[in-house]
Formats: sequence, structure tokens, C-alpha cells
Amino acid sequence: MSVKLYETHSHTPLCKHAHGLPLEYAEQAYSKGLAGLIVTCHNPMPDGFSAPVRMLVEEFDQYLQIIDDARQSMQERLEVHTGLEADFYPGYESWLEQQLSSFDFAYVLGSVHPQIPEYRKRYWTGDTLDYQRTYFRLLADAAETQLFDCLSHPDLVKNETPESWNEQQILPDICRALDRIAQTGVAMEINTSGANKAIRQINPFPAMLKEMCVRDIPVVIGSDAHVPGRVADGFLEALDLAEEAGYAEITYVLHHECHLVSIRDARQVFQKASGQVFS
Ligand SMILES: [Zn+2]
Ligand SMILES: [Zn+2]
Repeated sequence: MSVKLYETHSHTPLCKHAHGLPLEYAEQAYSKGLAGLIVTCHNPMPDGFSAPVRMLVEEFDQYLQIIDDARQSMQERLEVHTGLEADFYPGYESWLEQQLSSFDFAYVLGSVHPQIPEYRKRYWTGDTLDYQRTYFRLLADAAETQLFDCLSHPDLVKNETPESWNEQQILPDICRALDRIAQTGVAMEINTSGANKAIRQINPFPAMLKEMCVRDIPVVIGSDAHVPGRVADGFLEALDLAEEAGYAEITYVLHHECHLVSIRDARQVFQKASGQVFS
């Protein structure tokens, strides 16, 4: 049986801060030896909530269309799946419930985005540690809604106050959040775009990944590509990190079903794609 790997986190121009149509991302995914692409652009939200970085409600049909176009063009060469990156923000749960049941999404990422103005305004108390604690508590709240398949970039908050980020100080709070997340069965992401952020490190940081592994939380690798050239970016490094943290397998989720791929098999796919010789 051949090993299937996916780009699980990718965007479209509809979110106003990404470039390239799904077809261009799909072509990249194909050329890198992946089995498929899951498109997960930022979900529409009501009341103008963080409107500058997401599609409008009225653009949702267009979103489905451009993914369909990619699916048609790739035919049987590559699977193209329709997913969504949905913001978790307390107060909007019923909106999300409705949105996520209105379409048969193949994969739904749950994201707490501490960088958006609405979030800062509501949660910033002037205390950085407090801000970080809130973030991890919300991440666990997100998991407990059972609305999402996977939690994206799960230590993103460190980039909001990079100068006062202290892994050891926050780790007990993270562990409390992970205890709750592990109970839900929701997966967590290894997001390679973190390497391009203020703290240049794949999300989550190694000690957190280790705590996830101890709790048997499944991990899904995604690049969070906002340009086609980043499809599968850093995946080999992500596999190394997962292995160092104690994982033997990574996961992908399609239609609420978790599929396991051994890290050894996954590495072979990427090595083949990058022209490296197997060891
Ligand atoms: Zn984005
Ligand atoms: Zn995100």
C-alpha cells in the first residue's frame, strides 16, 4: 500500500493575505509527491469580525468553486479536499456550529489567533504571562467544543510577546491545557510556517511537542502556505521534530477519520520528492 501524505493547511487569495489559486498549490503538492492538498482558508465571520484577513460570507460559494476548479483540473493525479481554518473566539460558537454543519468539510482547523485586534482588545491585560495563559486556556476550550479536527499552530501566542516568552515559566499552564485537549481526541498541528515568524521556530516548540506525545495527542503536519511555493515547506524538519519528541507516527484527518503514517514511511516520500537517496 502506498503512503499517502497531504499538505493539510493552505490558503487562497480570498483571505486577502495569500497569493495563488488552489490549482497552483495543487500543482506544487503534486510535484512534491504528495497524495493531496487540503485547502483550509480563513472562515467567514459575521459582524465584520477580523474582516481584513478572511473571505466575506458572500464569497463562500466562490471559495468552493475555486477548490472545485483545482479538483477538476488535477483529476486523478491529486486529491483536492475542501477544508476550513475556523477561528475559535468565545461568543461565536453557534455561528461556527451552523457554518461547519452547512457543508461537508473534509478537515476543519480550529485556530486561536491572538494577533487579531478583536482578540487583543478583549484579552490584553498588560500582563504578558496572563496573555499567554489565556491563549492556552482558549486552545483547550476550542478542543472541548468538538467543532474542530485539529488545533492549528498551537503556541502561536509566543510571537505576540517574543521578548517575554519563557518556555519553562508557561509550561505548567500548557500541560494543564494539554491534559484537557488529550481528553477530547482532537489532533494538534506541527505548523512549519512558525520558522518564518518572530520566534523562528516551527510551532509548537519541542518541549511542548514532547508533552503532547506523552499524552498521545495525534499530530498533523501542515505548512500554512499563503503562497504556492511553501507547499510542504519544512516537512522533513517537522518529521525530525516529531520523532525527537517521541512520536513514531504522524496523522492526517479526512472526514473526521484519523489516518496514521509512520514517520519512516513519511520521510521516504519527502526524500524521494527532494531527490535524496534513501538511507
Ligand atoms: Zn492567514
Ligand atoms: Zn492560522
